[in-house]
Amino acid sequence: MGLPVLIAAELRNLLEADQLDGLDVTWIGADEPTPAGGDWVAIVPLLTRWIGGTELKHLPQLRIIANVAVGYNNVDLVAAQMRNVIVTNTPDVLTDATADLTWALILACARRIPEGINLVRSGKWIGWHPEQLLGMELRGKTLGLFGAGRIGEAVGQRAVPFGLRILYASRSPKLRFEEETGAVRAGTGRLLQESDILSLHVPVTPETRGMINSDTLAVMKPGAILVNTARGELVREDAVALALETNRLGAAGFDVYADEPTVHPRLLVAPRTVLLPHIGSATRDTRRRMAARAIANVQYVLHGEPPVTPVFR
Ligand code: NAP
Repeated sequence: MGLPVLIAAELRNLLEADQLDGLDVTWIGADEPTPAGGDWVAIVPLLTRWIGGTELKHLPQLRIIANVAVGYNNVDLVAAQMRNVIVTNTPDVLTDATADLTWALILACARRIPEGINLVRSGKWIGWHPEQLLGMELRGKTLGLFGAGRIGEAVGQRAVPFGLRILYASRSPKLRFEEETGAVRAGTGRLLQESDILSLHVPVTPETRGMINSDTLAVMKPGAILVNTARGELVREDAVALALETNRLGAAGFDVYADEPTVHPRLLVAPRTVLLPHIGSATRDTRRRMAARAIANVQYVLHGEPPVTPVFR
């Protein structure tokens, strides 16, 4: 009999049998509540499952929460620390996939790709016109990165061949990133004022929650593009919808939302949006690597070793 663990059922096809050696797995579907009262020693949840004080109380033998995401705002870290439960995430393995998708949104917004697709599909396209669907030329424009960690930097690296000037805001300077890309560190105010494209790459914290709101949108360049592949809670979606409706904001490309899977109804009908269903890390290779990383963390901890990617030490 292996060690009893709870694993999100949606990971079943992404895992190989040998990765689960020594584990007695109970699979839990996303729509099932977190079980209570068992002797499970590990849980491998998706980011859609909240694990707070109540869930931890109901799982008294738990030693590790191995979240299958780099973000961990679905876990009450204080409650976990109080119960000596280790929390891990899956950084690095999803950096390239998420940076690529961020670029898909930047390009889709700048070059009005959804409008073009809709025009062709509508049958109303009457041919080439010199002023049809004119977008934003990237070369010489400024890309603002709010957050220059793993994903923010990877987005910045990809900006160099497009000829963008890069500004970034983060708590600490990133000297190697600056040397490699010519990026310049800026305060939030300058980032908002000077960015033609503002892309968000910070976690949700008390300081960053709601940071894109009517006040900060008013400071942004008229016609700027806002891209969010980080977390929906960073943005006041009603304020973004208003900025789009009034043509203050040029376009918005979002992969994440404050109340997933619900999208703010005004954002759904606002003009010049590119709205994706949280697929930043959704490549087959990356999802396999995320699942493997989460299970590796479980195996290390259950064998008395430190986890590969702890959220706190
Ligand atoms: P990371 O490496 O931890 O980078 C976070 C960055 O945010 C760091 O540069 C950090 O600065 C900065 N930061 C934190 N608080 C800040 C503040 N108050 N002001 C300014 N900067 C601040 O994280 P990551 O791996 O790049 O992930 C970034 C985000 O992407 C996370 O929110 C994650 O949830 C999200 N994500 C989404 C998807 C998706 O499917 N759409 C996939 C993966 C990740 P320091 O470096 O100075 O600490």
